[in-house]
Amino acid sequence: MDSGTSRPARAQETAHSMGQQKRRLGPIPEAHIKRQKFQENPPTATMPAQVWQQIFQYLPPETLAQLVWVNHAFKDYLTNDEWDYSSRPLDGASQFMNPEHIWATSRSIYHPSLPKALAGCKELQMWGLIKGKNCCLCGSRQHVMVIWPFAVRLCVDCLGKQTQSVSMEPS
Ligand SMILES: [Zn+2]
Repeated sequence: MDSGTSRPARAQETAHSMGQQKRRLGPIPEAHIKRQKFQENPPTATMPAQVWQQIFQYLPPETLAQLVWVNHAFKDYLTNDEWDYSSRPLDGASQFMNPEHIWATSRSIYHPSLPKALAGCKELQMWGLIKGKNCCLCGSRQHVMVIWPFAVRLCVDCLGKQTQSVSMEPS
């Protein structure tokens, strides 16, 4: 899919065919070989990103949250909002989708009662707030609650440390 991933191999072949000699400086690390194999044969190679994204929007958010961990490509399709969605050249009819749109569509289909993402908060972050179980600061699972105005999940201890009580009564 990504022709750029195989460029070094092609460049090496071309160099060979042109009679140029390249010297290997040392053994290729195993991690590099594994990464190269992954790039040469990514699981997404048979379908364009746009098609995966079209499918993803109709899956439940719970499944999307799992797909983020399947491979780098899926993570990109579901979280990378730095792509230029308006001007990216397309090889097919469909557009790349902003991941926010995928998550929002999924949420509205499977959890229509859940609120939209808070201002300044991404859909994935919202999903993490709703479904997460740990305090964002200390990781505790005891007495944890979402503080919606701050878009954060805290335990009672951290909430006490991070906030200050203010009396609203006139002094
Ligand atoms: Zn805490």
